[in-house]
Amino acid sequence: MRRWLFADQLGPHFLDAAHQPVLLIESKAVFRRRAFHRQKAHLVLSAIRHRAAELGDHAVHLKTETYREGLRQYGEVVEVCHPTSRRARDFVRAQEKVTVLPARGFVTSQEDFATWADRRRGAARLDDFYQHARQAHRVLMDGDEPAGGRWQVRVADATRPRELPTPPTPVEDDIDAEVRDDLDRWAAEGVEFIGRDGPRQFPVTRAEALDRQQHFLVHRLPHFGRSDEMLADDPWLAHSGLSTSFNLGLLEPLPAVRQAEEEYRAGHAPLSSVERFARQVIGWRDYLWHLYWYLDAGYPAGSQRPGQGSIPEWFAKLDAESVHARCLSNALAAVRDSGWAHHAVRQALLGNYGVQRGWRPTEMVDWFQRAFVDGQEWAMIGNVVGMARHAELGSVTTEAYAVSGTHINRTSDFCGACRYDPKQRLGADACPFTGGYWAYLHQARERLHGNVRMTRALKQLAQIPDVHEIVTQERARGDCAP
Ligand code: SF4
Repeated sequence: MRRWLFADQLGPHFLDAAHQPVLLIESKAVFRRRAFHRQKAHLVLSAIRHRAAELGDHAVHLKTETYREGLRQYGEVVEVCHPTSRRARDFVRAQEKVTVLPARGFVTSQEDFATWADRRRGAARLDDFYQHARQAHRVLMDGDEPAGGRWQVRVADATRPRELPTPPTPVEDDIDAEVRDDLDRWAAEGVEFIGRDGPRQFPVTRAEALDRQQHFLVHRLPHFGRSDEMLADDPWLAHSGLSTSFNLGLLEPLPAVRQAEEEYRAGHAPLSSVERFARQVIGWRDYLWHLYWYLDAGYPAGSQRPGQGSIPEWFAKLDAESVHARCLSNALAAVRDSGWAHHAVRQALLGNYGVQRGWRPTEMVDWFQRAFVDGQEWAMIGNVVGMARHAELGSVTTEAYAVSGTHINRTSDFCGACRYDPKQRLGADACPFTGGYWAYLHQARERLHGNVRMTRALKQLAQIPDVHEIVTQERARGDCAP
């Protein structure tokens, strides 16, 4: 039967055979409904069109206003792998001529996760799931024990890697030129985008993705794992930059982790880095995916609190120039110019600022999904909502995230040239992240009481004499660009 592939199902592992007939549908309505980053729209359309060109006569490639129209135009029965959003799942389930198959592109199945989580009676913690997945798939195992004797291996090397080679930039072709022309025309017709256009920076074909993966294995994997660090002039550090390829379905997670393990077994990469990569891919990535379905619609909705506000326009539209806080301005500029920033920037700067200012988690999820080239609802809900609830989901995730300017100063090189002082929490030079952190903790202190991870921070809060002035100052700062 012909297999309908969504834009995040483009790798060979979404087909049963190389020459299986394929249906590809470009829906313009997806881009009309919400304003996506221009480079994200380019990446997705370019990836679909490159896949259609690769498949040649085996693919029916339709450009329609909606998926419904595309299916009507094709007219025959198709099958599709389980889509990656609730909206798409509900849509495909409602179609008479669409058979829905189990999901692909992840390491563990939904049934496996549900069985495992049910056995834990709601205490479905990431660390436990990671161990379960490692054992089940024999990743970094020596017999029945984890390689090196520990499930999580600390990164021992404190030396900051310098001048790692930049990942190879893809070479644009005629398909990219056609996509750019189409997007220019759509923009002229009124379709709204955010961010700036620019040369395509991420893979759209399996071959490009494998090149990028190989570059990572050789150059970055040995340094992978220094995940807190942020540098103004180095957007990549040792991060893999493979998330767009995983999320377009061009790379398959388990083989990628197995290749990383081979690098460790061959003595080319330390266990600490390879273990961290495995944890990101078969732990965190799979965990977020399953959590999205396991908790279903209650997860984002349950995170809302009365009084939470909307994301201000300067943040939503990536207006980096209006921001004086150097770290935040740099982060917004990175997203504006490339649709990408590494994990620490997303968490410590962008997500953290939204948490401190009390912006609605569902809006933050939507923004991350639209502004980032690798943004997916299932990934962003776990990341953003988990952060926003600030470890209140103690039974589900062990992540907690709100940090002050002193943390940002410790982990980055932003503060020296900033007009604010990360140590100051009150006054004209008060760092908005530091003042914002204490004001947030003060306002959330009752909810956080009893959370062991917050005990120390709450004790420090109790010793701050001018906390009410800080709260007043941060209320006055409000949602203005800092
Ligand atoms: Fe960011 Fe505060 Fe440091 Fe400025 S002083 S760069 S606002 S953390």
